[in-house]
Amino acid sequence: MPQSAVIINVDDNEPARYVKRRVLERAGFNVIDAATGADCLALFADHSPDLVLLDINLPDANGIDVCRELKSSHYGASVIVVQISATATQASHATEALNSGADAYIAEPVDPDVLVATVRAMLRLRNAERALADANTRLETVNRDLQKSNESLEQFAFVASHDLQEPLRTVATFAGMLKRALGSRLGEEEQQYLQYIVSGATRMRRLIDDLLHYSQISQSASVSAEVDLNEVFAWANEDLRELIGETSAIVSAEKLPNVLGDEAQLRHVFQNLIGNAIKYRRAGVLPNVHFRGVRDNTCWVIQVEDNGIGIEPRYWNSIFAPFKRLHGFDIPGTGIGLAVCRRVVDAHGGRIWVESKVGQGSTFSFTLPVSGDVPKPSNAMLQKAVT
Ligand code: ADP
Repeated sequence: MPQSAVIINVDDNEPARYVKRRVLERAGFNVIDAATGADCLALFADHSPDLVLLDINLPDANGIDVCRELKSSHYGASVIVVQISATATQASHATEALNSGADAYIAEPVDPDVLVATVRAMLRLRNAERALADANTRLETVNRDLQKSNESLEQFAFVASHDLQEPLRTVATFAGMLKRALGSRLGEEEQQYLQYIVSGATRMRRLIDDLLHYSQISQSASVSAEVDLNEVFAWANEDLRELIGETSAIVSAEKLPNVLGDEAQLRHVFQNLIGNAIKYRRAGVLPNVHFRGVRDNTCWVIQVEDNGIGIEPRYWNSIFAPFKRLHGFDIPGTGIGLAVCRRVVDAHGGRIWVESKVGQGSTFSFTLPVSGDVPKPSNAMLQKAVT
């Protein structure tokens, strides 16, 4: 608490004012005297005090009205007003003073130590409030800066990946033409080199497309529409019809809820999770993927359970980072699918995580906002099974 805090000491009774002034000055405060309401308002405007000790019965005004005026001024919200009175000492006076904006009320005669302790306590409170307000302002600034740097990073990723597409297309096209033109004139080894160039360019193109997609998610997210996840599930199945057919995967879901969200982006999430569940299947075991929605207090938790190879606990977090892969090129992928899922879920104000047993399967869970109209999920209702 600053000992040099400035206090305006308002009292028309000179001896009483003097006593309070001495007590407060001895406690280390900087005290300015005022005898009337008008004096108080004028001094307040000139000195920006930390606290006003305000008598209720003043010759030219009611102290309660003066308090109201102080508090409604520009600087008033951050100043402490302690109303004090030797005559207006009933409970109703204290109530009216406090209801009118005073921060504390003291009935005289007041013990000098109690007066100083009350003033200090009030200033402590004010300082804590100011510190909190400062911290909030700093936090807002940090958040704004972070948002700006995220946006410029996204912008950079977008421009970089967009501009990389053109030269890459050239490499892929001419490598392909070279391969066709030279054809059988090339030895086996040279053909292999050319093939490396073509497949490297193809892979890079896929990476760039994914990076572009990833960088665009939070810019384009519109998460306020009501989305029927049963439809999203059906579309995702349709999108993956070929893969599901080839692998004889069983993809099923219990009745899913309606949520607030972005339909197109949620479709990507469903697609990525179903695709992964099939890609990372166990050898010799038919892939089985099952969706359910579980109502939590404030959101829906969507669970996607598979019977695949599973994931070691040490990777449960890192697989959601862009380009993180646990597999080589034997299983195709760019490592961006789960990062996209996390971005989409983040944009919906939710979170995504995985739990898994190696050799048995994984359950990916993510939360989504509840929409107004929420059908209760029922374990008994299997809505779709694709084989
Ligand atoms: P990608 O599939 O393109 O490699 P993802 O971001 O979708 O990229 O997944 C990251 C990694 O997480 C994968 O490479 C894989 O090792 C692991 N993974 C994802 N889903 C599963 C799953 N259902 N079962 C086992 N491992 C998975």
